[in-house]
Amino acid sequence: MFKMDDDEGLLLERRSRYINNLVQQDPAIAKQFVFDEQELITEDVEASDPLMEDEYMPVRGLVHKYDNRALLLLTAQCATYCRFCTRKRMVSHVERGRIRKGDIDEWKLYLNEHTQIRDVILSGGDPLFVSTELLGYTIDTLAKIDSLKVIRLGTRVPVTDPVLVTQAKLDILKRLPQTLYVGLNFEHPKEITPEVREAVKKLQSIGGICYSQSVFLKDVNDDYDVLYQLFTELFEMGVRPYYIYRCDPVEGVSHFRVDFEKEREIMTHLRSTLSGLACPTYVIDTPYGSGKIPVPLRYWEAYVDNYRDFHGVEHVRI
Ligand code: SF4
Repeated sequence: MFKMDDDEGLLLERRSRYINNLVQQDPAIAKQFVFDEQELITEDVEASDPLMEDEYMPVRGLVHKYDNRALLLLTAQCATYCRFCTRKRMVSHVERGRIRKGDIDEWKLYLNEHTQIRDVILSGGDPLFVSTELLGYTIDTLAKIDSLKVIRLGTRVPVTDPVLVTQAKLDILKRLPQTLYVGLNFEHPKEITPEVREAVKKLQSIGGICYSQSVFLKDVNDDYDVLYQLFTELFEMGVRPYYIYRCDPVEGVSHFRVDFEKEREIMTHLRSTLSGLACPTYVIDTPYGSGKIPVPLRYWEAYVDNYRDFHGVEHVRI
């Protein structure tokens, strides 16, 4: 297995001018993007790579954990760094995550040898933050792999610096013959500005099927009304709320973790008021990368201190 360079460190602080404006207007936005000394605290249950992505990396930047799909980490850079990032072990460490054309050629070899992989997720870092040259080379390479049927683009650029959704990048994405899904990350309704709506529309105009993922974050979105508004607005703009995660046990994010029973209560309430299409599945991403396990809502009497992953292994809920 390939291992990325072992130069882990703190996630650097960087914000786009666009996000800086929002940070000044709203504390829920500021908490997501401004460094807090509590990031220096690590709890026993936390790890730098809780999903063990580095253990499943057969070639540089390609994570193959589930049989029929793979994750492609195209860069370690983002327009703005989120303080709760699950990949803070590598994100913002430019050399650690640098991908060159030669690496993409290696991805092609691997994907052609593993034709059971039908779905790849371009992620990072943020794949819309790379140069048009690297994005074009990547997209044109993936476009020629017949066994790939779905390309997913996991990006927060439309939310953190929407002007970077340029016509040049849209023209590149349009060249894909495969189905294109665009996975966006939204945490709070104040993120849905006119500029963000415009960027999302552009991605939809080239055929991108948009969905959103969110994370429960203390003092950001651990509130029924906030999430009701967020998921309703996303649904109405054609972005399907897909998952809401319990915050991963990443080193230095314990100040973001919400009380588990509070999360269940909020999701139980949302399930009874939102349209089914507007209500995401509430999951725990299992340590060791063994599946996204749905959390039972309060409609059932359920024991929720332990759960089993996709392989039947029991875990203590964090
Ligand atoms: S945009 Fe994504 S990869 Fe980048 S810092 Fe935020 S969560 Fe991490």
